[in-house]
Amino acid sequence: PLALLKDPSLLKTDALIDGEWVHGTSRFDVHDPATGLKLADVANLGGREAEQAIAAANRAWPAWRNRTAKERSAILRKWYELLMANQEDLGRLMTAEQGKPLAEAKGEVAYGASFVEWFAEEAKRVNGETLPQFDNNRRLLVIRQPIGVCAAITPWNFPLAMITRKVAPALAAGCPVVIKPAELTPLTALAAAELAMRAGMPPGVLNLLPADGANSIAIGKVFCASDIVRHISFTGSTEVGRILMAQSAPSIKKLSLELGGNAPFIVFDDADIDSAVEGAIASKYRNAGQTCVCANRIYVQEGVYDAFVQKFAAKVRTMKVGNGFEEGVVQGPLIEPAAVQKVQQHLDDAKAKGAQIVTGGSRLQGQFFEPTVISGATGDMLCAREETFGPLAPVFRFKTEQEAIAAANNTEFGLASYFYSRDVGRIFRVGEALEYGMVGINTGVISTEHVPFGGVKQSGLGREGSSHGIDEYVEMKYLCLGDV
Ligand code: ADP
Repeated sequence: PLALLKDPSLLKTDALIDGEWVHGTSRFDVHDPATGLKLADVANLGGREAEQAIAAANRAWPAWRNRTAKERSAILRKWYELLMANQEDLGRLMTAEQGKPLAEAKGEVAYGASFVEWFAEEAKRVNGETLPQFDNNRRLLVIRQPIGVCAAITPWNFPLAMITRKVAPALAAGCPVVIKPAELTPLTALAAAELAMRAGMPPGVLNLLPADGANSIAIGKVFCASDIVRHISFTGSTEVGRILMAQSAPSIKKLSLELGGNAPFIVFDDADIDSAVEGAIASKYRNAGQTCVCANRIYVQEGVYDAFVQKFAAKVRTMKVGNGFEEGVVQGPLIEPAAVQKVQQHLDDAKAKGAQIVTGGSRLQGQFFEPTVISGATGDMLCAREETFGPLAPVFRFKTEQEAIAAANNTEFGLASYFYSRDVGRIFRVGEALEYGMVGINTGVISTEHVPFGGVKQSGLGREGSSHGIDEYVEMKYLCLGDV
């Protein structure tokens, strides 16, 4: 699939340190999850190179910080334009290594680029404050300064957007970055880094270190232990987030964590059922169910349960599964064999505990799994407690609003949630009662660059995107001026 790139020089396979492409002493293979075929071998860097990249970023910091916000903004704006100009090629790289259908991949390129555009604008708005003095000989000010060298560790499900959502605000604020992309999807990340260089990013300001699984752990340790790295932004599993937090305790590092979810999707009797079905499809099956905001548990009130299940399953039956490069495909492969096994395990467990398959239910060839709907799901099933991260939609039945809220909140996670209702009182009551960082009301699609994305409870710390996203990368400094 990569032979068809319009600009073949976007296929980068070396690491980027201090503005130089580094071949590295070892390499690792990147595969196409749709075919299992090898796409490329990529530089496999370790802890030593992570130290070098951190040192390079630290050297680049003073000059980057001292550029005017408008100058940093101009480079980010140029990067945004190059990402969009190369949307097709970036989409192809993404479909090849990640599997999502090409139209969805190009959609992610636009989504990922939108964070660069947004933070190019926000760079100019890192404003300070003046405060009323506590005696007349003083003046009190607050300035906001870049925190320092930032590290980013990103997952494979959004190979571009999870990088730009962290890196763009850091760069806008005046911080240099060292990125460790997911081992399964480094090619999109490397192409984006190449475009950042073409946009005029100075050497050392943006560094990117591909690594295999073992080296990712080693690099993570170096990031956490470093006194130079002042902030780590991580998106991935709660388990790894916890490790990074523990490892960062000795250096009291600031962390932004976007971790797992277990999103409830509630349909009340008074909902518009057709709209709820559309929303459930969009939320559940995006990226084959492999996003942290995908509906994991669908709760439907008893009065509309049968109608919802029937209409939802009818729509799911029409979804075309296949290689993401094929016309009309809306669901690609899962990322790796372990992901397929997890879906199968959740399905087997649900069946054993009494759930019925309404549609789907079978593993297809390779890493493909049929989009599946099961009814009669209950709280004791694995799919109620853990994020399936695949195309399995369990539908639970409930009677009352309180019961639905209690079930929805009965999890240690708190990222995204959704509900459908047309009762304005209920919309406020339920919206306020859900213990989640984000609530989609009468919609299954919530994410965009100018809203605060993030979770509560064990789903994470901090917010990405929006005017608040840059706060993670700046420190407030209070200046108290006497002798006035
Ligand atoms: P996922 O379930 O999405 O694969 P992970 O949390 O396993 O999520 O991985 C997300 C990112 O974290 C990847 O870039 C991966 O290489 C990295 N990672 C995994 N384990 C560690 C670790 N112990 N230290 C640092 N990074 C890690």
